[in-house]
Amino acid sequence: MTALLDQDLLAFDRAHLWHPYTSMTEPAPVHLVTGARGCELEIDGTWVVDAMSSWWSAIHGYRHPALDSALVEQAARFSHVMFGGLTHEPAVELGRRLVSITPEPLKRVFLADSGSVSVEVALKMVLQCQRGRGRPERTRMLTVLGGYHGDTFDCMSVTDPVGGMHAMWAGLLPDQVFGPRPPAHDADAADIASWAAALHALAARHAPELAGIVVEPLLQGAGGMWPYPVACLRVLREIADEHGLLLVFDEIATGFGRTGHLFASELVTPDVLCLGKALTGGYLTLAAVLTTDEVARGISASESGVLMHGPTFMGNPLACAVASASIDLLLSGDWTGRVGAIGERLASGLAPLRSAPGVVDVRTIGAVGVVKLDHDVDVVAATEAALAAGVWLRPFRDLVYAMPPYVAGADALDRLVAGMGAAVSAG
Ligand SMILES: *Cc1c(COP(=O)(O)O)cnc(C)c1O
Repeated sequence: MTALLDQDLLAFDRAHLWHPYTSMTEPAPVHLVTGARGCELEIDGTWVVDAMSSWWSAIHGYRHPALDSALVEQAARFSHVMFGGLTHEPAVELGRRLVSITPEPLKRVFLADSGSVSVEVALKMVLQCQRGRGRPERTRMLTVLGGYHGDTFDCMSVTDPVGGMHAMWAGLLPDQVFGPRPPAHDADAADIASWAAALHALAARHAPELAGIVVEPLLQGAGGMWPYPVACLRVLREIADEHGLLLVFDEIATGFGRTGHLFASELVTPDVLCLGKALTGGYLTLAAVLTTDEVARGISASESGVLMHGPTFMGNPLACAVASASIDLLLSGDWTGRVGAIGERLASGLAPLRSAPGVVDVRTIGAVGVVKLDHDVDVVAATEAALAAGVWLRPFRDLVYAMPPYVAGADALDRLVAGMGAAVSAG
């Protein structure tokens, strides 16, 4: 086939390709990317600062030489082989890194091919483990409102049923137990205590049917960009221990330094941990589920004797090779300094927006900056205004937010803050 011109690419896209959460019959506008380097994207022929890290993933920015060469070198060896009955150095090397950088008890690794699949696997681990413990009646998950855990059906079942993106499926999904959203990150001890009391009571009421607890620790992402206190995680750990539940942390968004901690799991240890998004530095789709020996033994004691999951592209060598390179790059650099500097710049740059018309809240955590409006953002108008200011943003609901690549320097961050301001006034 001959190559299409830019306008023909866009026309075909509009006629034939679905984009995330869009209509095929009334397609929303899309922009053409023709290049990416560092913290910038070339969109419609202009280089702009990327405020989104391609949805949390491109932490080192684009075309990083270390990641490019990890990929090319592995491609020259082999790109993929099945993981059933075979193994390879990229998977083992990645496993070694994941076991060593996550809390000590998490040492059994399942490599999945996307974040949603990893959450499915995590939930399956929880249910199989309870069966192995002789408690097959424990099939429900306890979670909190405001969460987001992916788009497949079990993931949707633990995602916020009303505010989330999956309200229409209520009734078709497994019926999970939802507690209140955790209090705000700056909540006082009394707020935290009353949330804790509500969660304790809910867990006690449902304990005989509960298998586990699943949350995004420290920061709820796609469910509303909501940071919350670490004390809440301690409460969940206590509840899990009290009732024999497995605690699952979905760190698909928060992992790899975004909140200022390498993992929230460093603060409170879960029984099961899901990683994704930034795992490959945004190069390829890959996720991982880590768990403890105790859970692995529980799964083995269930009637099947094995963990019943095995995707075709499990442990994909290209993805594993680039993930190891991304982890090495992160840990060999000053990521805490970078994340801290980005957070400070976002906090000081966004502070004046507190008094802008329509703004109800400005909050930052780690390398994430969030502006909440008193109305749903006009996404097209806000996006266009940000692009005109030289920034790629993707607001949702009532939020204009940014989580730039860690390589974003002071100039890029100043532009980014100006772009968010433009999006806020236009949206
Ligand atoms: C993005 C995300 C997922 C889903 O990951 P996919 O790779 O899109 O399937 C699950 N949980 C959280 C917290 C996420 O941010």
